[in-house]
Amino acid sequence: MTERTLAIIKPDAVERHLAGKIIQRIEDEGFQIRAMRRSHLSAKQAEGFYAVHRERPFFGSLTTFMSSGPAIVLVLEAPDAIKKWRTLMGATDPAKADAGTMRKEFAQSIERNATHGSDAPDTAAYEIGYFFAGLDLL
Ligand code: ATP
Ligand code: MG
Repeated sequence: MTERTLAIIKPDAVERHLAGKIIQRIEDEGFQIRAMRRSHLSAKQAEGFYAVHRERPFFGSLTTFMSSGPAIVLVLEAPDAIKKWRTLMGATDPAKADAGTMRKEFAQSIERNATHGSDAPDTAAYEIGYFFAGLDLL
């Protein structure tokens, strides 16, 4: 079933000029890019995006990092896109990520881990709506 997910090339990867390599890989793996935008989140916007993690000890550090510089936000479409993109990203902690995954290749740490991907259909719908209006996605 064709599905959409929200991907973010996080500020650590944008800063190191890895966006081109990551986007190339996204296309090589057969995703359609349905929307894309560069966005420098404010602290408040990063807190809203990661609100599910607000009780976690890393929340302050994570939202400071995510608002530290521009990110590139994409809507990806493919059959089974949510799981497909999370598999391509690899484990949250790059030390545990499989060879060939984005995080194994590009992450610097468990926090500065290069990419984000929605984890379920309901979070994908929320996250896509957080960044893109319906008319951007026709
Ligand atoms: P994402 O939601 O960004 O795709 P994920 O679903 O693999 O990542 P989550 O558990 O949702 O992982 O954590 C969200 C983000 O918070 C991680 O991607 C990472 O940047 C940061 N993070 C997660 N765990 C830790 C930790 N123990 N220490 C520091 N940062 C962390
Ligand atoms: Mg997550």
